Amino acid sequence: MQTKVEMRSCAERGDGIFSTTAFKAGDTIMTGIIQEVLKGNHSHASQIGENQYVFHAGLISKVNHSCNPNCGIRVNDMGGHDFIAMKDGSSDEEITFDYAMRNYGIDHFPEECMCGSSNCRGSVTGWQALSDDKKKEYQDFAAPYLFALDDKIRDQRENN
Ligand SMILES: [Zn+2]
Repeated sequence: MQTKVEMRSCAERGDGIFSTTAFKAGDTIMTGIIQEVLKGNHSHASQIGENQYVFHAGLISKVNHSCNPNCGIRVNDMGGHDFIAMKDGSSDEEITFDYAMRNYGIDHFPEECMCGSSNCRGSVTGWQALSDDKKKEYQDFAAPYLFALDDKIRDQRENN
């Protein structure tokens, strides 16, 4: 079943993306279509590689961060980031993902996190700041280059 989403206003947090249908864990909620390849980072960019940033078409750049997200990322055949449900959800639920699933470090977001979840980290942090447990939880839902970068940094440390 095709999941449908739409943009709605969510008070103090600006706009958000909401599902208008129920969804199941593993469903593709949004398909990532790369609109433009960028020369550097930007507040609405998606990081898809160590030094690769793109704009996704459509509503993907409007999806809000949560420290307790209902979606994660999977790279599709076109190199874009599909949003995949990590758990079942109901219609009218806000679609969220953890920015750390996509960004190694966070350059462009306000320090304070407003996600309101019980396990909120307090600030929007990147992949490099996540605990090993969290990285394991996100294993199938984070951009592959993040794992490659972790490995690279570990190798560099061991070789010095
Ligand atoms: Zn949070």
